[in-house]
Amino acid sequence: LSIISSVEPRISDAIRSELDDQRNSLKLIASENYASLATLLTMGNWLSDKYAEGTIGHRFYAGCQNVDTVEAVAAEHARELFGAQYAYVQPHSGIDANLVAYWAILNKRVESPTLARLGAKNVNELSEADWEELRHEFNAQRVMGMSLDAGGHLTHGFRHNISGKMFEQRAYGTDPETGLIDYDALREAAREFKPLILVAGYSAYPRRVNFAKMREIADEVGATLFVDMAHFAGLVAGKVFTGEENPVGYADVVASTTHKSLRGPRGGFLLSTPEYAEFIDKGCPMVLGGPLSHVMAAKAVAFAEARTDDFQTYARAVADNAQTLAEGLAKRGVTLVTGGTDNHLVLLDVTTSFGLTGRQAESALLDAGVVTNRNSIPRDPNGAWYTSGIRIGTPALTSRGFGADEFDRVAGLIADVLANTEPVTASTGKPGKAKYTLADGVADRTKAAAAEM
Ligand code: PLP
Repeated sequence: LSIISSVEPRISDAIRSELDDQRNSLKLIASENYASLATLLTMGNWLSDKYAEGTIGHRFYAGCQNVDTVEAVAAEHARELFGAQYAYVQPHSGIDANLVAYWAILNKRVESPTLARLGAKNVNELSEADWEELRHEFNAQRVMGMSLDAGGHLTHGFRHNISGKMFEQRAYGTDPETGLIDYDALREAAREFKPLILVAGYSAYPRRVNFAKMREIADEVGATLFVDMAHFAGLVAGKVFTGEENPVGYADVVASTTHKSLRGPRGGFLLSTPEYAEFIDKGCPMVLGGPLSHVMAAKAVAFAEARTDDFQTYARAVADNAQTLAEGLAKRGVTLVTGGTDNHLVLLDVTTSFGLTGRQAESALLDAGVVTNRNSIPRDPNGAWYTSGIRIGTPALTSRGFGADEFDRVAGLIADVLANTEPVTASTGKPGKAKYTLADGVADRTKAAAAEM
């Protein structure tokens, strides 16, 4: 830090302050974790200085032999870790990985009259003018993913994301009574809509998905099954999700991040069957810029870590701790979406439980040193900005060694803070959606308890 400080002290101060914040607060954001020192150190070195667009052995720049090694080792670890036939480790983030997946699927699947007439094998071989003609056929394709309020991600066809603009899209939700995916309703909707791509995976659904059923539905309607396992990749790697709960082997294409439950550097990757490999391989330069070689190296290190018995123990603890957290909240009267969890995250309905919006709850918890994020719940009465939910996850604190006792205590702290938060009435006389008051002493006692843990 002293070296950084001699150049720009505001940056070294921000780094130090981030470390203090992460040490002194309870980090419960479901998509965050603590990467190992080996992973962090692998990102800060000379690999960062190298350009290497292209693929292993086929680069647009000279002198890429070390990057070739890095990428090959990372892809090998990814294949072995997940039992996949093909892995692509270049995507810089989860969203990038999903875009590469969509482009690859379109490229492989679209049986276009224009393409047939032009005689091209794939769209990358077309001239500008021919592509102009084909663009409309690509744009008419359909994607079907989980709705945002049911726990899906923006990239699964949401209208404010490019995925909602690239495709004609329709979302599936969850059962209004149980909050669970209703596979029969989903089958019906897919039969009617006939998507080219069926997307499975989520950011805020607190349950496991049956990928065998998803495969059946995809096959029935002729869709490619694309699974975004960004959130639960660590549980797949750690063999908590096996059989029908493991997407690899059921999906045609799987995309993921590396930094959430998988505990690697920030980044993305893809796995696929051999049929999709040549199309995914064109991710750079079609969708991605030059690969971040230092991050690919850190992915290799994190994948290697995830292949150990210790990681399997960790992944089991992540899921067990989520159960403890959910039970601890439920016994203190907190309403949970779907009534509980069987993955790494819990979704609290703070409007039903405490009369708060997600925004008020998130801010009050932050005042008390508990870092969470507000999240929509199914059919959210407060909309996507204020929301009615709080999403909490166990991957980060499990990395710090928290077990059942600590997570029960965390549940108590959260329930205490929320029970002592009052919405402030707006000038219209209606309950406000952003302002709140937290009773005296609650923030201090919560912070003191967190510091002890
Ligand atoms: N897919 C899912 C399911 C996610 O939850 C997220 C992140 O929130 C992403 C993709 C995007 O990942 P990134 O932020 O690395 O682009």
